[in-house]
Amino acid sequence: MRPESVENAVPRTVRVLLPLPLADAYDYSVPEGLDVAPGRFVVVPLGRRETLGVVWGGGTGEVPAAKLRDVIEVLPALPMADALRRFVDWVAAYTLSPPGAVLRMAMSSPSALEAPRTELVYRPAVAAGDGTLKLTAARRRVLEALKDGPAMAAGELAHLAGVGASVVKTMAAAGLLEAHERIVRRSFPKPDGAHHGPTLSPEQKAAAEALIAKVEENAFSATLLDGVPGAGKTEVYFEAVAAALAAGRQVLVLLPEIALTAQWLRRFEDRFGCTPAAWHSGLTSLERRETWRAIAEGRVGVVVGARSALFLPFAELGLIVVDEEHDTSFKQEDGVCYNARDMAVVRARLVSAPIVLASATPSLESVLNVTAGRYAALHLPARHGGNQLATISAVDLRRHAPERGRWLSPPVLAAMKQTLAAGEQILLFLNRRGYAPITLCRSCGKGIECPQCSAWLVEHRFRRQLVCHHCGHTEPPTLACKSCGVADHFVACGPGVERLAEEAHEFFPDRRIELFTSDSLMNRDEATAAVERMEAGEIDILIGTQMAAKGHHFPNLTLVAVIDADLGLNGGDLRAAERTFQLLYQVAGRAGRHERPGRALIQTHAPEHPVMQALVANDRDRFVSAELAGRSGAGMPPYGRLASLIVSGPDPVAVDNVCAAIARRVPQQQGITVLGPSVAPMSLLRGRHRRRFLLKTGRDTAVQPVLHAWLAQIGLPGSVRLQIDVDPYSFL
Ligand SMILES: [Zn+2]
Ligand SMILES: [Zn+2]
Repeated sequence: MRPESVENAVPRTVRVLLPLPLADAYDYSVPEGLDVAPGRFVVVPLGRRETLGVVWGGGTGEVPAAKLRDVIEVLPALPMADALRRFVDWVAAYTLSPPGAVLRMAMSSPSALEAPRTELVYRPAVAAGDGTLKLTAARRRVLEALKDGPAMAAGELAHLAGVGASVVKTMAAAGLLEAHERIVRRSFPKPDGAHHGPTLSPEQKAAAEALIAKVEENAFSATLLDGVPGAGKTEVYFEAVAAALAAGRQVLVLLPEIALTAQWLRRFEDRFGCTPAAWHSGLTSLERRETWRAIAEGRVGVVVGARSALFLPFAELGLIVVDEEHDTSFKQEDGVCYNARDMAVVRARLVSAPIVLASATPSLESVLNVTAGRYAALHLPARHGGNQLATISAVDLRRHAPERGRWLSPPVLAAMKQTLAAGEQILLFLNRRGYAPITLCRSCGKGIECPQCSAWLVEHRFRRQLVCHHCGHTEPPTLACKSCGVADHFVACGPGVERLAEEAHEFFPDRRIELFTSDSLMNRDEATAAVERMEAGEIDILIGTQMAAKGHHFPNLTLVAVIDADLGLNGGDLRAAERTFQLLYQVAGRAGRHERPGRALIQTHAPEHPVMQALVANDRDRFVSAELAGRSGAGMPPYGRLASLIVSGPDPVAVDNVCAAIARRVPQQQGITVLGPSVAPMSLLRGRHRRRFLLKTGRDTAVQPVLHAWLAQIGLPGSVRLQIDVDPYSFL
């Protein structure tokens, strides 16, 4: 070969996307002999280090050949599927995030990409002959154990033959056994759709058949499965799961993290004979690696997980279920701001699979999608087994005030006595962790604030700590006031669950009372144990936050009391009423789920509020239409579109300068409104000063191009961050 021809040859180049928040895809040259098909995981140089990435396509050719660097290595992992790469691009474009930041979510187990672990396994060698060879008894037992069976690892083989592991090794050395390498794989049990056929009511059966038909179409469709708590939605979508499994496809079930309970897993096991693969924050890195690989290789039939499971590398995804689809925990609010429910619909479309959104209190977004004909709807009207919904009544705190410094009103106390006398259980619901939301100094009247945030520190009396619920800052309980220096003069203001537990103990000293919160139950096992104690009747009064509101069924729980129903309404944001209604409706649905009728008492200062009225009338649909009418009139989601911009930094002057630059370029298009800049309600968070803009457009105007054009020329000093949240849920 002549030297010139080498110089003039156009190098083969590829674009490699790196799982880094700053990166777009970069061009790399490809050394001879490397297979760099799109989707391959590769190691490439970046500055002075090496990093993992994914081949995203052919090179752009924009980088001069002399500056190109070589791909170092192609990893042995299965390539990332085309549909998943398109999904990463889609999510990045929709949320205006760097594609690399989204890719990072799709590479949540980097060690799964490395060569899998192998082990030596043994089988009889030809030298072992036909059994005529003279052998010791131990050696004969080893050959016997291998007869007609699969090759085995030394430990397993020795155990089975009842010999020491050294016998196996010496036999291999003597040429009696042949060793070869085998990949070590964790095996996942296969859910069996025929394990335990369901007993369905006629309504459930009809809904299940409709879903099965969608699965069999093997095409994109979205269906809202709507039914009151206890109507048996889970049993219905389990039939769709069984149909997808029968067709040889994989299923993803998304659940809010806190609803991913042992109870749900048990129901699945009853139906399918084994538990599904779970994907959540509690997995060890080994579990993550094995699960990730098995999903990519199609060895896992059903994955149940929190929102991050949406980015797993399914080989043959044939159905997605989003249970509790209205739940706001599907919305991620830092890093890449996305709603897993909405993105799940996109992923289903990209893989041409059906998606089922299940809820007793569907989001207004989904309700409108049904009305507009974009989603199909299936309604489960009655409670499974003919049970009645709990009767819900409001307790007007203006007329039935609790004693001073207490939170349980006389009607609630009376109902508690009755319930306990009947040998039944109680749930007291208060969505406030800790002892009291504010601790005040009696001497100067100041509250104890977080040094990092504009928020009060919350006293957690059992842990003997003051905690910031926004940044996690903790400090020991103070003896002297930071403002005036007076010692030991603090007073707790308002109730938290710990304080409520103290009060319940005073009224019912002989009863077994437990807290059900993320602070008292630190992990999944503790939560499971508490649920089991509740089921076994070992708890009389359960006091819980929203963690107790979801996914649990306690047959002997007949009274639910909501201590402060007005709590969620005070925030005044767009979804305050919707969220409060959904939460309280779910909580009330905990009562009387089996043979016993239940009741829910809702303590409120505003029984005339539409949310309370709708709850008491048990008229969800009236609430939904009133709320939709209000949103429509105001052009708010789901009728309009919102995006929020949060500008933050440690130096308020630098933050305000950036805000001024953004404000100068506000888009002047018809139908677009921009509010702000305004100081965010959380004006200080983790030491950063925060300002907000809110962009509002009609439903037919996509916000992404508007934001692109608007923000393209804004320069940011290093310390200032600009976060874009399309379809925001939080306005803090
Ligand atoms: Zn003071
Ligand atoms: Zn804080």
